[in-house]
Amino acid sequence: MLELRGKKVSDGIKEYVSKELETLTFVPKLAIVRVGENPDDMSYERGATKKLKSFGLDVASYVFPQDISDEDFKKAFKDINEDDEVTGILLLRPLPRTINEKDIENMIDPKKDLDGISPINIAKVFAGDTTGFSPCTAEAVIEVLKAYDIELTGKRVTVVGRSMVVGKPVSMLLLKENATVTMTHTRTVDLKKTCSDAEIVITAAGRAKMLNSDYCGQDAVMIDVGINVDENGKLCGDVDYATLDGKASAATPVPGGVGTITTAVLAKHLIQAAKMR
Ligand code: NAD
Repeated sequence: MLELRGKKVSDGIKEYVSKELETLTFVPKLAIVRVGENPDDMSYERGATKKLKSFGLDVASYVFPQDISDEDFKKAFKDINEDDEVTGILLLRPLPRTINEKDIENMIDPKKDLDGISPINIAKVFAGDTTGFSPCTAEAVIEVLKAYDIELTGKRVTVVGRSMVVGKPVSMLLLKENATVTMTHTRTVDLKKTCSDAEIVITAAGRAKMLNSDYCGQDAVMIDVGINVDENGKLCGDVDYATLDGKASAATPVPGGVGTITTAVLAKHLIQAAKMR
């Protein structure tokens, strides 16, 4: 079984970023906006900062207390959104319930919305219009498939999960690549059959090792977006990777797979935002 390494894909994106950086007259700056001290957000923030800086890009964190009022947060967010020094924004979500997240999605400048949360960018993803930003993780899935020359046209692809962050947008991006897409979720009746009938499975359920080789057709490709913790406290995906040998033709590991590519896509989007200015 071929291991689809995120690093190889990320390195390719780094090359693109370096070349494009040379053509710009300024270093693009990413604003990471975080409310509160959620350890998962902080870990993602650290990873993204390290990656983007290693790509030669500028990153600044804007951190607000968990109990900030809706009004104060919107005021601060407006300033970041309108700051000419800020090329792109990554908002760590979910926000505390006291803040109206929908309002922020509507506020964010679509040209700075690197993770595709504004209704305009979402509509573009669903319309197959590539002039906006799609959610970085969804695009990371397409990046890994393309980097390893895995054909999508006409292929039966099953997507597990229907969130707005991964499942739905990745299904739309796959359709744009002419795949035959089946979307599944918690109410799907026979998930095992729907997955094992597919030539490619993309899973974003957030359930540790939920899919074993029974969910994988012979020589199918398994792309694991899940980031979970197993019974021993170790990081793992939705797929029980160890069971895939002899069944899958290729699969992404966790860690070291899609997650590594997500922050590289964020860097790519920052460059694209800089070029839009
Ligand atoms: P979510 O909880 O919003 O959505 C999960 C989806 O999976 C839902 O649509 C649900 O219907 C489906 N699902 C859950 N259990 C299922 C089951 N037993 N059978 C069928 N469908 C099931 O989660 P999300 O934000 O989309 O994230 C999904 C996973 O991807 C998480 O593990 C998350 O940590 C990971 N993630 C990774 C990255 C990355 O950079 N690699 C980015 C975002 C999310």
